Amino acid sequence: MIIVMTPDHSPEDLNRVIRRIEDLGLKAHISKGEHRTIVGAIGDERVLREIPIESMSGVEKVMPIMSPYKLVSREFKSEDTIIKCNGYSIGNKKIQVIAGPCAVESREMLEEVAKAIRPLGVNFLRGGAFKPRTSPYSFQGLGKQALEYMARVREETGMLVVTELMDPRDAVLVAKYADIIQIGTRNMQNFRLLTEVGNIEKPVLLKRGMSATIKEWLMSAEYIASQGNENIILCERGIRTFETETRNTLDLSAVPVLKRLTHLPVIVDPSHAVGRVDLVPAMAKAAIAAGADGLLIEVHPRPEEALSDGPQSLTPQQFAKLMEELKWVAEAVGREL
Ligand code: PEP
Ligand code: MN
Repeated sequence: MIIVMTPDHSPEDLNRVIRRIEDLGLKAHISKGEHRTIVGAIGDERVLREIPIESMSGVEKVMPIMSPYKLVSREFKSEDTIIKCNGYSIGNKKIQVIAGPCAVESREMLEEVAKAIRPLGVNFLRGGAFKPRTSPYSFQGLGKQALEYMARVREETGMLVVTELMDPRDAVLVAKYADIIQIGTRNMQNFRLLTEVGNIEKPVLLKRGMSATIKEWLMSAEYIASQGNENIILCERGIRTFETETRNTLDLSAVPVLKRLTHLPVIVDPSHAVGRVDLVPAMAKAAIAAGADGLLIEVHPRPEEALSDGPQSLTPQQFAKLMEELKWVAEAVGREL
């Protein structure tokens, strides 16, 4: 339920509404816009049915939110959310590209990638420190050491750090180094982990579960938002289908669907979606044309030597060429790169 206050309501009116909501055992979520103050009543809304909130002083109207996700829905907030992150924004006209290796393998390789992509206008450097590998015998990431390398490269280049958190036990450590905390596809429904990042004051990049519906994905975003952290970026990274030519099937229609259902920014990761370097550029361009606010692309200086995801990693040269091509697409759809 959302309660829209009149433009001339008094602070006492607002407090009375909040108290009424809290007395019923619900959470009151206040959002003060330029022209309107809106109070969200979050929880089991059935208790509100009997209460004539409409007739309270300072209340203009009461609207039920039909979707099961509330805070992240368009119904709750009609304007696009722009995530502000240490001087950069995600969700406005500029398309942000998050690029870097799948895993941080050494300080040298991270620096090599960073120095190659920074002059191309890339503001966010990605790199895995804790890797969610299917096999326990595959490279698991350098852990804290990798986070330290990322922080060092941030100092050298000014690029912000995007890295995955897999385990609530590492939350404090990862939050100390990351500018954006990534939740991977395998953890999209790890509700304890979502609750954990909901309590951290850092933007969260929430990847779509490989078998998750858009509704389930938005419910996971709601877990994070319900804890107080509404700085969530949704990332479509491909879903499991019967098709075997590509690693996953990129669900590009998720972009315009999400744009209708939620106010959160949406980015696309063509690398994990297709799993093949030859297909990444086409899907990256298509993602921008479809309305994505950004891209996540894996880049490795020597993909054939990569310890993870080499077949889908672009070389810095291939990436530079793609960035040039993306400019045209961005311009064609009224965005900039
Ligand atoms: C990654 O970004 O390297 C990764 C493991 O992604 P996903 O969770 O989408 O597989
Ligand atoms: Mn990867």
